[in-house]
Amino acid sequence: MRLASLGSGSSGNATLVDTGDGLVLVDCGLSARETQNRMSNLDLSLSDICAILVTHEHSDHIGGVGAVASKSGAPIYATRGTSHKLKRDCHIIRAEEEFSLESSDVRIKPIAVPHDAREPVQYTFTKADLKLGILTDLGSVTPHVVEEFGGCQSLLVESNHCRELLLNGAYPAALKRRILGPWGHLSNDQTAALLKQLFDSGSIPENLIIGHISKENNSKSRVEDCLGDLVSGIKSLVFASQEEVLPWTETVR
Ligand SMILES: [Zn+2]
Ligand SMILES: [Zn+2]
Repeated sequence: MRLASLGSGSSGNATLVDTGDGLVLVDCGLSARETQNRMSNLDLSLSDICAILVTHEHSDHIGGVGAVASKSGAPIYATRGTSHKLKRDCHIIRAEEEFSLESSDVRIKPIAVPHDAREPVQYTFTKADLKLGILTDLGSVTPHVVEEFGGCQSLLVESNHCRELLLNGAYPAALKRRILGPWGHLSNDQTAALLKQLFDSGSIPENLIIGHISKENNSKSRVEDCLGDLVSGIKSLVFASQEEVLPWTETVR
């Protein structure tokens, strides 16, 4: 299994997971045209997508879902809460209930996360002894999240903001409260604490991809400063960005 970020940040998130049995798109906050353009960097096109999984209904995650579904013909999978906003036919999935796509033995698990959406989930993909996780958009780290995302060899995790930059920045007070709150986004400190908990439980992802980094309230160097020595034992550490398509990250044992 392998994953590649087509773009990540508050203006649009889209991640490809190649399960080995098919190509899955997790969220699409980019337009269909932009998604196609970015996929062509990986020698892929929209018609290669066999399923679209949605995490929640915020526009940076669903903006392009309808158009990509129409153009690719791929079915959409979402929780009932998320599906209300999509206003399209969806395969309804439930948090904590594993499912598999047609003719695939990869087990996909939607994990409930604390975020200010109707019924948000994030996903893990498990195939034999390989496990890959996508974990963006959560306001706090719960024991459940630590348990479910333990054991991932590859993990895309958000490190959204630097608390200090956000607090002293130009965002309106209400937006600051929302982002900082338990249903908002993870700060660099919170992401570091999450990774420490994973490491302390013996689960060290070999490949770490940091995503959903705020342009206004964070920077790659601030994330690096915060993670510090924590990530020194990791095989590969990459930073997803709003503009760039990342190369594939392979999940191997
Ligand atoms: Zn988001
Ligand atoms: Zn969100």
